[in-house]
Amino acid sequence: MNATEVLKQYFGYDSFREGQETIINSIIAGRDSLAIMPTGAGKSICYQVPALLFSGITIVISPLISLMQDQVKALNEAGVHAAFINSSLSESQISKALEKASEGAYKIIYVAPERLESRDFVRFSQKVDISMVTVDEAHCISQWGQDFRPSYLKIIDFVKSLKKRPILSAFTATATEEVKNDIACILSLQNPNIVVTGFDRENLYYRVESIRGKDEFVIDYIEKHPNESGIIYCATRKNVDAVHEKLLKKGVPVTKYHAGMDNETRKKSQDDFIYDRAPIIVATNAFGMGIDKSNVRYVIHYNMPQSMENYYQEAGRAGRDGEPSQCILLFSAQDIIINKFLLERKDFSDIPMEDIELIQQRDLRRLQVMEGYCRTTSCLRNYILDYFGEKTSGPCDNCGNCHREYREVDMTEAAKWMINCVAETRGRYGLTIVLGTVMGANRARLKELGTVNYKSYGKLSAYSEAALRILLNQLILDGYLYQTEEQYSVLKMGDISPLKNPYTQIIVKMYEEKEKPAKQKSGKKRKTDALTGAGYDLFEKLRSLRLAIAREEALPPYIVFSDKTLIDMCVKVPQNKAEMLNVSGVGAMKFEKYGQRFLNAIVEYQLSHPGAVISIDE
Ligand code: ADP
Ligand code: ZN
Repeated sequence: MNATEVLKQYFGYDSFREGQETIINSIIAGRDSLAIMPTGAGKSICYQVPALLFSGITIVISPLISLMQDQVKALNEAGVHAAFINSSLSESQISKALEKASEGAYKIIYVAPERLESRDFVRFSQKVDISMVTVDEAHCISQWGQDFRPSYLKIIDFVKSLKKRPILSAFTATATEEVKNDIACILSLQNPNIVVTGFDRENLYYRVESIRGKDEFVIDYIEKHPNESGIIYCATRKNVDAVHEKLLKKGVPVTKYHAGMDNETRKKSQDDFIYDRAPIIVATNAFGMGIDKSNVRYVIHYNMPQSMENYYQEAGRAGRDGEPSQCILLFSAQDIIINKFLLERKDFSDIPMEDIELIQQRDLRRLQVMEGYCRTTSCLRNYILDYFGEKTSGPCDNCGNCHREYREVDMTEAAKWMINCVAETRGRYGLTIVLGTVMGANRARLKELGTVNYKSYGKLSAYSEAALRILLNQLILDGYLYQTEEQYSVLKMGDISPLKNPYTQIIVKMYEEKEKPAKQKSGKKRKTDALTGAGYDLFEKLRSLRLAIAREEALPPYIVFSDKTLIDMCVKVPQNKAEMLNVSGVGAMKFEKYGQRFLNAIVEYQLSHPGAVISIDE
C-alpha cells in the first residue's frame, strides 16, 4: 500500500490536505520533519499514515492523557492497532501492554513524556524495532511557550538510548520563530524538513462584541442556536460558576470545567460534553487541551484571553470538522484589569530567576496585542494572520468587522494633536493621561502633572472618548505611536515621518451600531448548500443513529463518524457499499462496523419519503 491507499483504507479520505503530503513524503523518505500546522489542519494523519507504512513501531509522545485515549480509540475504530501507556494505567496493566507490544501487537504507542524515564519502558524500547519517534505538541519543549514541560527535555536522551536512531517527527500549532528554533535545536533534528502550513481557518467566523450585557448575549445566542455544541470560556473560576448557574436556570443542557473542581467531577463534565449529553460547556482555559470534539459550532469568550496564541488555540476548537462555526469574543475594558491581575499572580516557581522579567514583559506585550484585536476596526482575520506572520490580501469579508457598517472619518488633524500631546509628555505618561489631556478633563492628577498647561490640552474636547480611543489604537497600529511593555505602560513617539508629507491622511473607521446580516461568501460553496429540507431531515436521522451507536459502543459520537461525514452521506445519498465507501470519512473498517446500518437508515428514509429530493448537486 502507498500513503494515499492507507489514507483511504483506514481513514476513508480521498486526498491529503495542504501540507500533509509534503510532510508524509519526507517522513517516509527517512527525513526528520517538523510540521507547524494550525489546530484542525490534520496533524495526526501526518504521523499515523507513515507509521502504518513503517516496518517497526512508532512511539508518539503526547502530554495529555485525554488526548492519547481519544486518539487510540479513534485509531482502533479505524482498524489500526494502537495503545497508550500513561499514569491512568496500573503497573500491571502497563507491563501487560509492554508485553503485548514486544510481541508486535501495536503499530503506534502513545506515551506521556514522563514514561521515557521509566526503566521498564527504556528496556522495552531497546529490545524492539522503533521506526519513528513522534513528538506531539512539540512546543512543550520550549520555555517560551506557556506550556513548557520539563520532561520534554528528556526526549533526546531517550532517542539516544535506542540501538538505532529512529526518524524524528515533531508537530505543533505554535508558530513563533523562537519556539520553532527551540524545537529543532533541542530535539537535535537532523536536516529537518520544516513545513509551515497556512494559519487561516476559512470556516471560522471571527467576531468581537464590546458589550455590557454579556450574560444576555450568551443566553440569547444559545437560544438562537439550539442543538448546537459550544464552548464558553471565562477568565476565572468564579465567572465559570456564575455563568454556568445562570444557564442552568434557563434550562440549557450545560456543564462546566475548571481547575477548582475535583478530578472525578471534571472528568465527568468533560465526558458529558464530548458525548453530547451536555453539548455546551462553560470553562476556564484549563479546559480543551486534547479535546478533539469535531462538531463544536461556536466558541464564545466571555472574557478577553491573555494572548493571541491562547485565543487562536481556544477559538480554534470550533469547527474542526471544517463546517462553518463562530468565534465570538465579548470584550469589556474590565477584562484588561482581570488579565493584569491574573498575570501578577502567575506562578514562576519553575522558571529561572533571570528569565522571569523577560517572560513578564512578553506576557504584557501579548496582552496588548490581544487588546488590539478587541479594539481594531479592521478585518479580524487579517489581524490574526498578521500576528502569526502570514501574508494577507485585502479584508476577508467573513468576519464581524468586515460585515459591520462603519463610517470612514478623516481624523488627520485630531491625530496630529494626539501625537503632539505624546510629544509634550516626553514619553512619560500612559494612555489615560494622554486621553484626559487632549479632552481637557478637569482632573487633579492632570493639574499635578502639569499637563493642563500643554498646548494640546483640551484641543480634542469635541470628540467622544470612545472615538479618541479608536484613533489612539489606530495610531499605535500604524506605528505613529508606541506603547511600552512594562506594567504601567507609557506612550512614546513612533515613526511620524509619513506625516511630513502634506498628503498623508489618517482615516479611522467608526462603527455604526447596526450590523449587516451575515453575507454568504460569494464563490465559496459549503457542503450543506446542497441539502434540501429533506436533506436536513435525513441528517438529523443519521445523527440519532450515530448517537445510538455511540451509546452502544461507549464512544464519543464524533469518533463513530464526524458531522462532516454525515453531511457527505446526505449529499451523496449512497445506495450500496461502493457508494458508501466513496463518502469522505468512511474507511474499510468503519464500513464493516457501521456502514450497513447507515445504508439501511438512508434507504428507510427514502422509502418513507417517496420522491423526496435530499440534495441538489449542480
Ligand atoms: P490537528 O491535530 O491538526 O488539530 P486532527 O488531526 O485532529 O487535527 O484533524 C482534524 C480533523 O480533520 C479530523 O477530524 C481528521 O479526521 C480530519 N482530516 C485530517 N486529514 C484529512 C484529510 N486529508 N481529508 C479529510 N479530513 C481530514
Ligand atoms: Zn474580515
